[in-house]
Amino acid sequence: MDRTMPLPRPLFLGSEIYRGSSYGLTHPLRVPRVSTVMDLTRALGWLSPAQYRASPRAKPGALEIWHTPAYLAALQQAEATQTVTPEIRDRHGIGTMSNPIYAEMFRRPATAAGASLLAGELLAAGGIIHHPGGGTHHGMPDRAGGFCYLNDPVLAMLALRRAGARRIVYVDIDAHHMDGVEVGFAGDPDTRLISVHEEKRWPFTGALTDTGGGNCFNLPVPRGFNDSEMALVRDALILPATADFAPDAVVLQCGADAVLEDPLSRLALSNNAHWAVVRALMDLAPPRLLVLGGGGYNPWSVGRLWTGVWATLNGHDIPDRLPPGAEAVLRALVWERASAGRNPPEHWFTTLRDAPRDGPIHEAVRDRLAVLRARL
Ligand SMILES: [Zn+2]
Repeated sequence: MDRTMPLPRPLFLGSEIYRGSSYGLTHPLRVPRVSTVMDLTRALGWLSPAQYRASPRAKPGALEIWHTPAYLAALQQAEATQTVTPEIRDRHGIGTMSNPIYAEMFRRPATAAGASLLAGELLAAGGIIHHPGGGTHHGMPDRAGGFCYLNDPVLAMLALRRAGARRIVYVDIDAHHMDGVEVGFAGDPDTRLISVHEEKRWPFTGALTDTGGGNCFNLPVPRGFNDSEMALVRDALILPATADFAPDAVVLQCGADAVLEDPLSRLALSNNAHWAVVRALMDLAPPRLLVLGGGGYNPWSVGRLWTGVWATLNGHDIPDRLPPGAEAVLRALVWERASAGRNPPEHWFTTLRDAPRDGPIHEAVRDRLAVLRARL
């Protein structure tokens, strides 16, 4: 690929490593996610071989631009032996309920990280990339956190910078605060980090008053956060804060756990809200745009949302009713040990687009937005 020319069309970075990979029978990440998006986009005729690239697995040495050698060695050792000592568990946060020992526990995150590193290179001259396996925003330099073993958003931003993008805006609309990314870039005048996340939820960081030394805009939102509220946040904060910074690159962490049907959070968005954020950031025409995945624990919500992100990035019309091949992908999903998986509503099989979930705008949202806008 000619790295002196912008990508002619959006590129999708996927991998077969996600298919069938599970964190364990009772873990929220027992569900298929990226493989669903690959299958759905292909069934819809939206993913030609020319737009798809298999993600390379990052070498440990390449991960040392942010992660410690001791931690990387511990991860590989844990994958090889499928066990950890109590000392390693305490020191690195692996072998816990959240961050368990599982079969691909180094190779899978190293593949997501490899795609993020590659994305930085491929975007050297500009373009759009979707990497739904990325977005592991809780990973720390020497420690796993919140199902994240590595921090591929940080690695993507470092790779973008290495390839010539100096000023970077990172936007995070996952239900959880981007604590690892903030550790990576707080206080860096050439990055601006914007996070919208549920208040009083793990990891309990990202308070409104936490400016990260001036470049972090943290917006905690109340339970029940709806599409109308996200539209206001988009237009009053995300867009002006991004445009005003004149970034060379925009990275969007598009976690799918802020939608109503997600089992881990209590926000109430429809997938329209995420797609509208994607669309609006595209309209700002940043030279480089990287859209990552993130959280998302309802297999239907995740697959439908991220497939719609790809449609948005490519300007495809989303059909009101899915064609039979795409419907078959959704009908084949199973969500074990989840009550909502027993009798899913029909529209989870037959549509991509949720019904909009508009509603009242809470005073708390308006007041907090005003605090953040005053800093622009
Ligand atoms: Zn999350």
